[in-house]
Amino acid sequence: MLLLGVISFNLIFIGISFLIAAYAIKKGMKTSISSSRVVEHLQKKDTLFSEELLMGNIQTKLDIVHYANKIENLGTIIQIPEQDKIKLIEDYKNVICCKITKCALIDFNTSNGIDYIDIQIDADLYQVIKEEKIASNKEQLKIKIMRKTDIKTNNMLEIIMHQCEKCGANIDPLTGICNYCKTSLKLENYDWVISQYEKIK
Ligand SMILES: [Zn+2]
Repeated sequence: MLLLGVISFNLIFIGISFLIAAYAIKKGMKTSISSSRVVEHLQKKDTLFSEELLMGNIQTKLDIVHYANKIENLGTIIQIPEQDKIKLIEDYKNVICCKITKCALIDFNTSNGIDYIDIQIDADLYQVIKEEKIASNKEQLKIKIMRKTDIKTNNMLEIIMHQCEKCGANIDPLTGICNYCKTSLKLENYDWVISQYEKIK
């Protein structure tokens, strides 16, 4: 009973955080022609897929990337070389807010059993500078996200039911890391993960 309570609390928590993020983005979001084509394509195999839910998911992941102060905080949500992770953490030091203002799904493809989406993102960043002043900057990103090809939006919720193969503890659904022994789950078997991250501006 207690376990069920924890699981449903987690489900509600993830659901709410994605929805809040999705709502906030939708208010200021412009949808491009390429986005509708990609969405149409994905909805054929994943009926729950929606651009809003995906954007909420990406905002949650970008929050983790921008607020991380050590590599471990990134969990398995971003799979890029170690030195690139270190650089991101250094670049985003003192970032206190990251807000997606525009998002375009540029392209979709499948290769070796993995689905990829290319996304271009505009975001506003707020960063603490010296003397406790806050500066705002615009950032433009080109990212690629991936997940196993037979995965659907509702599979994301399975992470919550999943227990660590090593110690049996719960997995943090946002980062894919075991809450107890810190073993990492292959998050792309359940949800989108970032496989390329490039700052354009
Ligand atoms: Zn564990």
